[in-house]
Amino acid sequence: MSQAESLIRLEGIAKHYQMGGETIAALNGIDLHVARNDYVAFIGSSGSGKSTMMNILGCLDTPTMGKYFLNGRDVAGMSETDLARTRNEEIGFIFQSFNLLTRATALQNVMQPLIYRGIRPAERAKRAAEAMARVGLEKRMDHLPNQLSGGQRQRVAIARALCSEPSILLADEPTGNLDSATAADIMALFDTLHEEGQTVIVVTHEPDIAAHCQRVVRLADGKVQSDTVNHQRTRFHKRELANV
Ligand code: ADP
Ligand code: MG
Repeated sequence: MSQAESLIRLEGIAKHYQMGGETIAALNGIDLHVARNDYVAFIGSSGSGKSTMMNILGCLDTPTMGKYFLNGRDVAGMSETDLARTRNEEIGFIFQSFNLLTRATALQNVMQPLIYRGIRPAERAKRAAEAMARVGLEKRMDHLPNQLSGGQRQRVAIARALCSEPSILLADEPTGNLDSATAADIMALFDTLHEEGQTVIVVTHEPDIAAHCQRVVRLADGKVQSDTVNHQRTRFHKRELANV
């Protein structure tokens, strides 16, 4: 793949924080390309810059220095409005704590991002139902989050991320609140989505989770310490999913 085709291109990305007269370099010169349909884990110890990286990749924050091209567009110079639109259209976020609306049904939660896109209600419901089916929750559309297990809640969050057909699924410690069997289910779902063509980026401190990804980028002190292909990755398939 030529560089021009990279979905993500980071050039000399730095993020500095000022703390009582001191400058902290959370990210310190990151050069990185991510191709379409890549499946990348960002790993590193606490303080290595993972969250800062996630925020910049997800257009939640802008770098102090450097360039970030997403789908060929320069993100670093975008206004707040442009950033918000880019987030909604390009990024499907998945968080450790699911971040579902507690009073809304699973289907309503999944439809939420489409409201901001001005898609009419019937079409929203249709797309959300399709996303629920992709995560194996077609029989749980009308359940409230507290009527679902932790794994099911994370599936709803994944369906919500998928339903706007984002360029990137960006997951921050997606299994951090789940037991190991449920975590394996969720990783099986990411494995399947990746096989179906989705670009997936997972931020994690757990080697077992990173083992699912085809590429592992290790951050240390705000720099890329290593960037390796995972030749023997752990891979699960849909048929191995536990009943939801
Ligand atoms: P990780 O997610 O890998 O634990 P972070 O990206 O949260 O790492 O942090 C990287 C470094 O930047 C740490 O030294 C942290 O203390 C610092 N940092 C992160 N956010 C801020 C902030 N808002 N203000 C000051 N320093 C910060
Ligand atoms: Mg963090």
